[in-house]
Amino acid sequence: MIFRQLFDHASSTYTYLLGGAKGGEALIIDPVLERVERYIQLLDELDLRLLKALDTHVHADHVTGLGALRDRTRCVTVMGAESKVDVVSVRVGDGDHIDVEGVSLQAMHTPGHTSDSYCFRMADRVFTGDTLFVRGTGRTDFQHGDSHAAYESLFNKLLTLPDETLVYPGHDYKGETVSTIGEERAHNPRLQVGSPEEYAELMASLNLPNPKMMDIAVPANLAIGATQGGSDLAWCLECADAAAEMGRADVVLVDLREDLERQRDGVIPGSLHAPYADLERFLSPGGILHYEGKTARKRLVYYCAFGERSALAVKTSQEMGLADVCHVVGGMDAWSRFGGAVEQAG
Ligand code: FE
Repeated sequence: MIFRQLFDHASSTYTYLLGGAKGGEALIIDPVLERVERYIQLLDELDLRLLKALDTHVHADHVTGLGALRDRTRCVTVMGAESKVDVVSVRVGDGDHIDVEGVSLQAMHTPGHTSDSYCFRMADRVFTGDTLFVRGTGRTDFQHGDSHAAYESLFNKLLTLPDETLVYPGHDYKGETVSTIGEERAHNPRLQVGSPEEYAELMASLNLPNPKMMDIAVPANLAIGATQGGSDLAWCLECADAAAEMGRADVVLVDLREDLERQRDGVIPGSLHAPYADLERFLSPGGILHYEGKTARKRLVYYCAFGERSALAVKTSQEMGLADVCHVVGGMDAWSRFGGAVEQAG
């Protein structure tokens, strides 16, 4: 596995880059906007293709690099289901897996610092965001923070992991880089409490100033969705238009989501499954979406969860020379609200 712990000095943020092997896929956790060029350079140097960018929660101390990375690399953006961001490509819930080739993370919903806080766990390590720091814990006094919820997340979730599990925090202000669950249980001063009430009291006594960037970072981090295009654009279909095209012999409806999302949220009847990560292969000669030279030319109609991957897929397809491609604005989320037909994934 390829693993890099990267640091942003201005906000004392740790960003983690994980990849399977040289030439393979990668994901990034908590990227910082100002560091995006460096991440792209590093991905290039390590010969990795960025497939997913995750934030552990809506940050108040720096602007996320999620949107910029998506715009530059067409990666999939991922956040927790509870997050109030306008649009991300994928929303995960407690226990969901986030996979790229050679790396598998499990999402743990750990509210407390914010209501949308997640930790991401692997076999030997856990990325704790602002839930748990080395000898510290995330503040709980704004952004729907809740000390009682934090206590639950810390004691009944994180501290139940094996002692030797490595703890990689979202920030450090003193130069610490990594710890373990066992070490934190024994030596983290915030964890030497006997009840949620005692923890809440401790957190209430901190009187921390608001982060300098808060008024800029929070609004910016809530509005990270990609442009999906207006309904005036030929490649954008509102749900009603998409419904009218369904069943046409020359139209192929393509579901770009992953298995997990299809099982959880259902599928539009009659759609073909072609996960976004492998789109270029599907569109190339021999691929299931390659209709060039066949008798009936096909029109591709992409959809995903919220319309973000499908909008990116239209761009990729157009660059590969396909003219007749469009996508369903708002994705499966909008389709369900529209009342469109949904069936269980086979
Ligand atoms: Fe935070």
